[in-house]
This record gives sequence, C-alpha cells and structure tokens, in this order.
Amino acid sequence: MARFDILFTLDYEIHGNGEGRPRALMTRPTGRLLDLFQDAGARLTIMADTAELLRYREVADRSGRDYFGIGDIEEQLRTAVARGHDVQLHVHPSYLKAEFVGRKWEQYYKEYSCADLPRERITEIISGGKTYLERLLRPVDPDYACLAFRAANWSMCPSHHIVPALIENGIRYDSSVFKYGSRKGTVTFDYSQAPSNIVPWRPSAEDICGISQDSPLIEIPIYCERRHVWAFASLGRLRRVLTSRQYPVKLSGMSSRRRIVGRLRDLGRLVLSRHAWKLDFNQCSAGQIVRTFERIACNNPGAKDLPVVLIGHSKLADTRNGKELAQVLAYLNSKPEVFRFSTFRQLSGAWSHGREPTAPERLASCGVET
Ligand SMILES: [Zn+2]
Repeated sequence: MARFDILFTLDYEIHGNGEGRPRALMTRPTGRLLDLFQDAGARLTIMADTAELLRYREVADRSGRDYFGIGDIEEQLRTAVARGHDVQLHVHPSYLKAEFVGRKWEQYYKEYSCADLPRERITEIISGGKTYLERLLRPVDPDYACLAFRAANWSMCPSHHIVPALIENGIRYDSSVFKYGSRKGTVTFDYSQAPSNIVPWRPSAEDICGISQDSPLIEIPIYCERRHVWAFASLGRLRRVLTSRQYPVKLSGMSSRRRIVGRLRDLGRLVLSRHAWKLDFNQCSAGQIVRTFERIACNNPGAKDLPVVLIGHSKLADTRNGKELAQVLAYLNSKPEVFRFSTFRQLSGAWSHGREPTAPERLASCGVET
C-alpha cells in the first residue's frame, strides 16, 4: 500500500511590505495552530523568517524594550521543538537592512530576491539564520539541526549562488519550488520545467530544476497542480487576496501606466490559462485539501514514504481556517496506513538510514478537478 509523509510547513512572518504586528500575525495564530496540531497528534513545521527575528532581537537588545515581542516568539519556537514540532529556515533578506519608520519596516528592496544576491551575501545570510536557530533551539533539544530552507517569495532562480550557499551551510533540503509556478518582476522564476510536483530530486548547482545525482541538496517541492482559475475558489483564498491588497508591496520605479498594462495582461492570463495551485492549508478549503490527498494516493499507488509538502502562513491562520484544518487533520488521522505526519528532521533521520522515498512513474490518471 502507498504511504505518504505529510509535512505542514508554516511561513512565520509579518506582511511582505513590512507592516503588521508580530503578536497578531505570528505568535497568536501560531499558538492556535500548535494547540490544534497537538490535539490531533500532528506535526507542524514552522519556517521562521530569521531576518525579521534577528532585527526584532537586535532592537530589544539595543533598547532594552521588547517592542516586537521577540521574547514570546523565541519562547514559542522553543516550546514547539520541545513538543516534537519542527522549526526550519525561511529568509526575507530585505529585512536585514530595513528601517523601521512609523509603524512599518521600510524594506531594503536591493536585497528583496534571495537568488539575486551575490554568492558571499546569501551564504552569510543563510549562515546567520541557521546559527541563530541552532543557538536558540539546542538548549531544548541538543539534537536540533537547521537543515531545511525556503526562500522568500520562492526565489531560487538564478540558482548558481543560492544552491551552493545552501550546500556550503550544510542545508540538506530546500522546499521553495512548486512545479508550474512562474513570476516575472522583482522576483523572477520559472518552475515549469521542475522534474516533479511531488517527487524530490537532487538539484544541480546551476539550475534548481535540473538534476545532479551527486548533489548533497534535495529539493522537496511544495505540492502543486496546474488548474483553471475557478478551482481556486475558497474563502481562505479570498481573505488572502483582500489582505494582499491591504498591505501591498509597493515597488519604487514602476510607472502607473506600466502597472495598469501589467494588470490587464495578468487578467487575460488569469482567465485563459491554468495556474499553479499550491496545496495551501490556509487558503484551500478542507474539502479541496482532502480531495487532493485522495488524488495523490490514487495517482501514486506504488509510492513508499513519499513526502507531501503543504504550505501555509501564520498571518493567514484565523479561527475559521482552524476549523477547516481540524477536518483535514481528522481525515489524515482516519487513514494512518496511508498518511503519516512528518517533519524535515524526521525525514532526515529516516532517509539517513536508507529509507529514501520511492515513487513510480505517474500511472493512471485519476483526474484533476478543474
Ligand atoms: Zn515568507
């Protein structure tokens, strides 16, 4: 029987434009999620944006005032690891040189895209984040290791600086790529040629979507399907769209005409093409997620210990979303012979003992809803 390791990965951060309070967008919603996962016997992986956390810590140490609640954040991360959840590395480098003005961190847009940074700079940033997490978490778990990474805004292209930087820092897993995804702008990538939407691969140093069998890095993609726009309909996604409009990332230097042309082009693409539909546990409904798990099991009958990565964001995790998620966790718990909760650290332990995942070539199509 096919068996899948399910990883719920939560990007832990405030709004991308630097607005928002960490208590409202990080610690409170994540506290609710940790309780929910604890009650269900499930595991949550917090992808902590260490660039933000390092700045909050710096402000607290310098001023003696914990304005951003870094004490509560660090306590939450320590408690999560002590309870068997995982904390791994996520980095929005534009915070590292951001200025806090008024009620907002004015982003340093020259360092907005991880993959566009010089090799030395991204190596230094990853090293700083990994060191911070390991110093914070080893006191509660001496075996704790920071070994997984997700780039801000999924920025892994071009790959020739960031992939070697991850390897140099001993990062074993990247989980930034989602097949079919593409962006053009301040962050540019095209993951249409990614080897799989679910099966991990060892990426080449030149191209995260290429394969190099001797690479020490493994890409574990965020699960994604290509679907028409109406498949995206859910209350969670509507909330995400409204939130993005309320806290827009305003890029300097773009004329209003260029923005309008861009929007019209986006609208045409929106209706006519199929889009990357990530398995997002804050934006998809419970029914959508459960049906996706059924498709995954149906499409991969010979899979053995195949990881399935879901993505979420603490800033979008409200109580309504919690109710949907409780249904998803109950579904997974009802099929323990097929689905097992896991974390990157658990995968690492199992894989280093030779239990690498296997998956057959995609067999019969069980149909993807559109
Ligand atoms: Zn992020």
